[in-house]
Amino acid sequence: MTGRILIVDDVATNRIVLKVKLEAVFYTSLLAASGAEALSIAQRECPDLILLDLMLPDMSGTEVLARLRDDPLTATIPVIILSSTLDPGSRLAALRAGADDFLTKPVPDAVLLARLRNLMRGQPVDHNFAKVADALAMTGFAEDTQHFTRPAAIALISDRAEQALRWRRELTKVFPGHYAVQSLEQALSSDTAPAGQGAEGPDIYLVDADMGRGSNVLHFISDLRSRSGSRHAAICLVGSDITPEKMATAFDIGANDVIHAEVQVAELGLRLQTMLTRKRAADRARASVNDGLRMAMIDPLTGLYNRRYALPHLTRVAEAAQIEGSVFAVMVIDLDRFKSVNDRHGHAAGDLVLMRIAERLSLNLRSDDMIARIGGEEFLVVLPDTTHSEARIAAERLCRMVTERPVTLDDGTEIAMSISIGLAFSGAAPSVSGLIDAADQALLRSKSLGRNRVTISLNAA
Ligand code: GH3
Ligand code: MG
Ligand code: MG
Repeated sequence: MTGRILIVDDVATNRIVLKVKLEAVFYTSLLAASGAEALSIAQRECPDLILLDLMLPDMSGTEVLARLRDDPLTATIPVIILSSTLDPGSRLAALRAGADDFLTKPVPDAVLLARLRNLMRGQPVDHNFAKVADALAMTGFAEDTQHFTRPAAIALISDRAEQALRWRRELTKVFPGHYAVQSLEQALSSDTAPAGQGAEGPDIYLVDADMGRGSNVLHFISDLRSRSGSRHAAICLVGSDITPEKMATAFDIGANDVIHAEVQVAELGLRLQTMLTRKRAADRARASVNDGLRMAMIDPLTGLYNRRYALPHLTRVAEAAQIEGSVFAVMVIDLDRFKSVNDRHGHAAGDLVLMRIAERLSLNLRSDDMIARIGGEEFLVVLPDTTHSEARIAAERLCRMVTERPVTLDDGTEIAMSISIGLAFSGAAPSVSGLIDAADQALLRSKSLGRNRVTISLNAA
């Protein structure tokens, strides 16, 4: 695995020992001996992860961490605090400042390396998502902000009722949210969220590692990771007899944190908060990528497909028709005398008319048909597996749907509209662009014959 890790420690031998360990497993290491040096390397190099000592000559590790979190360039880099201190106050302060983990030296190599793999595995994806999300946000596709404030949904997975209830009672004081207690079977039995947890499922699974009856908690975690309903949730294992081997395995199969049952509840709350922050950031990034993909193929004014989607779709329909030996039809639709709507009522009214007509057209097509806006006031409809008479009837119905009643503006103004249609069938041309040309020619004829009508391409089918 490649990855660049910044090691921050004022003691040279500590830096070298870690560097040797990391390079043995093919990580690249960057070294810093002070807080100032760490900050400047982090900014310049954007490492994949930072191993941070608490005691530094110029500032504390917690202060370095706070400054990293304040700078957008370094805010999301995972940070593990490595320290020999046993002082609970320092742990809490570091976790509060945004440490992803606080490991007390000596840390077994297997645990350290598994933790590194674990945190870096999530990271490159998040970084890429974040970049795409930023790009999309800049082009005006910013995501809806309601997601941010949704209370956390936590599933407490345990078969020990009194343990789960105790967690819930204590945790609600430090980490507010909706808590639902579930058995392992309940959590796996459906992909749907427990009552009160919203359609999106739990944000965090807090899993009791001490569950009885030999239930295999590690299997359970990889199960959660593989299911669509819980794949993106944070998973946190809490238990009293967590061996280094078990901990390393849990990290490798995708647990976001593994916590000893004896930790203070305040620490548990802070760790849950860090997991939630990372999980929500990943959710937002995924959502804006999805929005971006949607926007790439949807016309924002009418909600119909755009030209970029329509042409490859038409090619696919043509290929399928060729294989099945079926006939399909293509319509090009143009609004009649639309320019005069803009001229008389203004551009905004024109937009509204376009939206309303687009809606009427799409409501009057079959679910297999595809309608796209391919020009200002021009639409393309593809009707797979359709006979000549079915297509002609469908086209005439669309004309009727438009003339049947006027479009009413918000101020009550009524605007009578009509459309002209050119219709062509597969076989009218050897290529899909030839087919659209044929439909366009037929459309021109509809216009010259007086508009509000359907003309079928004369090209030989
Ligand atoms: P014809 O019956 O021959 O099609 O006449 P027409 O006026 O519909 O056709 P023409 O091509 O002369 O004008 C089309 C007009 O559509 C011109 C353009 O300003 C307007 N238009 C194109 N896209 C939009 C849009 O998104 N919103 C609005 N409001 N108008 C648009
Ligand atoms: Mg027109
Ligand atoms: Mg036009």
